Amino acid sequence: MARRRQIYEGKAKILFEGPEPGTLVQYFKDDATAFNAQKKGIITGKGVLNNRISEFLMLRLAEVGIPTHFVRRLNMREQLIREVEIVPIEVVVRNIAAGSMSTRLGIAEGTRLPRSIIEYYYKNDALNDPMVAEEHITAFGWASPQDMDDIVHLTLRINDFLTGLFLGVGIMLVDFKVEFGRLWENEDMRIVLADEISPDNCRLWDTKTNEKMDKDRFRRDLGRVEEAYQEVAKRLGILPEAGVRDMKGPELMQ
Ligand code: C5P
Repeated sequence: MARRRQIYEGKAKILFEGPEPGTLVQYFKDDATAFNAQKKGIITGKGVLNNRISEFLMLRLAEVGIPTHFVRRLNMREQLIREVEIVPIEVVVRNIAAGSMSTRLGIAEGTRLPRSIIEYYYKNDALNDPMVAEEHITAFGWASPQDMDDIVHLTLRINDFLTGLFLGVGIMLVDFKVEFGRLWENEDMRIVLADEISPDNCRLWDTKTNEKMDKDRFRRDLGRVEEAYQEVAKRLGILPEAGVRDMKGPELMQ
């Protein structure tokens, strides 16, 4: 059997050529990295869970009109996506102070921010993904002012929607990172949500106990990493107890 052509290998995912032109297959690995790959490890089953969680969130976002690169899940670890031209910017949204913002600005972790804050980081491993301003992004042509309007508008809608979705299952969306891509259809271009949304790139805290349910458990050696990812999937109603076809909707918490 002919092997599929690998297009790109990242820290947590591999992209393969898709079955039709303009499509790719996104494969989710169990590999975990932190601090720009200075810390490496394996979170057993992470790829399977992130594939599911990201599928679920992208589908729910599409239902409220957010365009995404997601087409369909193919199997336990792979999903079919539309090929997009990735905007080389990581867009971080923060609702509660944590992580690098707390360190940089001396704001205690857990402080609710007066409003959601969007930050941009230039995707460049050699430079350690430096934080940049919209000025840099448009001046250096990484995205146009029109692209940035679309990105900000989509990001705020994604944040509002996901905040509510997670709150409904007893989880606080503290912060998260998203990436966008340009999807070309003939002469027309649209900015669409790309990459993945999973506990690898969100901070998720239990609303009752403040317990961390995301990659900070790996970054900070808190243990029970697999269990945390599983609990997120379970609360979203996508950790099937009686086989993969046993798909429920989200469990509403009181
Ligand atoms: O580390 P920092 O506090 O800046 O991270 C903010 C958010 O962005 C966290 O949810 C983290 O998981 C996510 N992030 C990411 N990929 C990076 C950097 C941050 O997904 N390279």
